Amino acid sequence: MDGNLNLGGAPAPFYLAQGDECEVFAAADANRLPLLLKGPTGCGKTRFVAHMAAQLARPLYTVACHDDLSAADLIGRYLLKGGETVWVDGPLTRAVREGAICYLDEVVEARKDVAVVLHPLTDDRRILPIDRTGEELQAAPGFMLVASYNPGYQNILKTLKPSTRQRFLSVEFTFPKPAHEIPVVMRESGLDPDRVALLVRLAGKLRGLKGQDLEEGVSTRLVVYAATLIAGGMDMNRAIRAAMIEPLTDDADTRRGLMDLVVAVVG
Ligand code: ADP
Repeated sequence: MDGNLNLGGAPAPFYLAQGDECEVFAAADANRLPLLLKGPTGCGKTRFVAHMAAQLARPLYTVACHDDLSAADLIGRYLLKGGETVWVDGPLTRAVREGAICYLDEVVEARKDVAVVLHPLTDDRRILPIDRTGEELQAAPGFMLVASYNPGYQNILKTLKPSTRQRFLSVEFTFPKPAHEIPVVMRESGLDPDRVALLVRLAGKLRGLKGQDLEEGVSTRLVVYAATLIAGGMDMNRAIRAAMIEPLTDDADTRRGLMDLVVAVVG
């Protein structure tokens, strides 16, 4: 697990702020406080972190957490290299040493031992003990921990404990309002404003069905996918089916009902 390193200094990727999240991020960074991003998938959290890292000219290590991800994956491990055993830092350790931003995407997915590692890093000690090497690292001044999670997945085993949650400043992300989502989808896909407005209206209707037929509303990411296919010449209904309907549910009856809604909105 190397994480995904982006060097700061490159032009910031496009990000349209929904509210005051850029100011909160900058203030968290200035005060050396960790930040938690809450919200559904595909609503811009990862893009936001990449944008802010570039704005602050800070290297960024992004780790997509999964249920097998352990503390050792973040901290590092001894590896055999050419007959020798050498210590290799994980992405969290590298970020701590270099004063980078470490972004743990979907942190609740990770194994429980990850929370133990995060605690001394998220209070004023800002230390990372590495049991295997006996080191206790003091985080470099620029180090910042950012984590995201989706409170929408109501799984009791997969919620963030208050003892962990209350160590972070938090920002909530939601599906954007049309006036905000339309320029994002236009910019990302190159599709014209009229057709983007139709897709965004449809997305709003589909989001209204969350909890009835659908577990989760359609994400901005999926709207961007549909718009990209249409801008590339695909028929509108086919693109919507592939990008905004099929990914939402495996139930054939529900999908048929959703396609009726598509015809009502798009024609
Ligand atoms: P998350 O990390 O919340 O799952 P992403 O950051 O990967 O979601 O967002 C998915 C896509 O949606 C991005 O690649 C981008 O195209 C688009 N997007 C969503 N919100 C924004 C925004 N506010 N500004 C720019 N792009 C956005």
